[in-house]
Amino acid sequence: MKIPSLNVQILLGALFGIGLGAFFHGLGEEQPLVLNSLYVSGLVGTLFIDLLKMVLVPLVFCSIAVGIANLRKHQQIHRVWITTLLFFTFTMMIAITLGMSASLYFKPGAGMQLEMFADAMQNFEAKQMPLPEFFAHFLHGLFVNPFKALAEANVLAVVMFALILGVTLVMGGERYQNILNLLEEALEIVMRIVGWVMYLAPFGIAALLIKLVTTQDITMLSTLASFVTVVVGTTLLHGVVILPLLLLVITGKSPLWFWRGGREALITAFATSSSSATLPITMRCTTQHLHVKPEIAGFVVPLGATINMDGTALYEATAALFIANLVGVELSFVQQLIVFVTAMLASVGAPGIPSAGMVTMVMVLQSVGLPAEAIAILLPIDRMLDTLRTTVNVQGDMITSVVVQKLTTQH
Ligand code: ASP
Repeated sequence: MKIPSLNVQILLGALFGIGLGAFFHGLGEEQPLVLNSLYVSGLVGTLFIDLLKMVLVPLVFCSIAVGIANLRKHQQIHRVWITTLLFFTFTMMIAITLGMSASLYFKPGAGMQLEMFADAMQNFEAKQMPLPEFFAHFLHGLFVNPFKALAEANVLAVVMFALILGVTLVMGGERYQNILNLLEEALEIVMRIVGWVMYLAPFGIAALLIKLVTTQDITMLSTLASFVTVVVGTTLLHGVVILPLLLLVITGKSPLWFWRGGREALITAFATSSSSATLPITMRCTTQHLHVKPEIAGFVVPLGATINMDGTALYEATAALFIANLVGVELSFVQQLIVFVTAMLASVGAPGIPSAGMVTMVMVLQSVGLPAEAIAILLPIDRMLDTLRTTVNVQGDMITSVVVQKLTTQH
């Protein structure tokens, strides 16, 4: 019998995980069979994420430094840099516009009573996060002692240091050629290790999804059905229609081609809810399946994993409007604009880890005087909604890489 390709195995692993998780959910978490299976799937799933995290930092460091060095050699750095940032901003703006328009139209939460959630809100204390402080904190976080950043897996700070290193390597020319060669070889080695980790991906993904589906409390989902529908609907619209359409118009590549090439990363993002943990696989898909040059992918993908989050931006803005409806506050046009801008900043500032968006959302709420404690209402369903928004976050990074390659390569 022919063994299916890894790509297909990963899809099967995901379907299997969701199916078995749903079955276990029906049996109930107290059953010994379910308890034992949860233990095993917890172990396998965590091991998979550990392996991805193990390669994450060396991968980001080498790929950015080498990518920047090669781009500078070819004098393309300006165009790549500007096109990437513009496209990141453009797609995040579309995402927020979608989420906010749907919220303003459907008004989720409008008829609900805030008292229903009083208990949850009482036990939740939101950390203050005013905009100026958040901004200062974000800026300070950019430049960190590289050894500390590497050891703490602080991806954004590693990205910044590697950027500077890449530029320096090229400015030094021949003098630093050895170090550049060393980094190039290190990058190749890390990508090989990623290739090995991939063999575990179908099992890791199945395990993560078994655990996720088995342990979800779905009662809250139905209480918040209108909000969930708006979030899921607009996130899907962005991921399934808008982003692929932009790809098609700008590069002429079909959505099916993209789905086939990016599937491993998209499914991993769904299962892990972490753009950072998915990053090694995103790099692999972008360079090997979507054929983006390593110097472009090496720059766009790691940067995107930390600052480009369409799904998160959409979610934060939609959630803020939902909470406004819930507490019965009518936001003025200017306040809506503030939500728009802060949601964007908050998503840029959110690290690529599970539920990070919930933490930075405090800032969005506070910027227009909404009660930050209301986040407690959304926490129980966050792990579920995070799956989809992380998938769209990662999709945005891969699509930007293909678009940037097209727009910056001369024919
Ligand atoms: N989990 C998301 C990510 O890693 C961030 C978030 O929205 O919470 O991309």
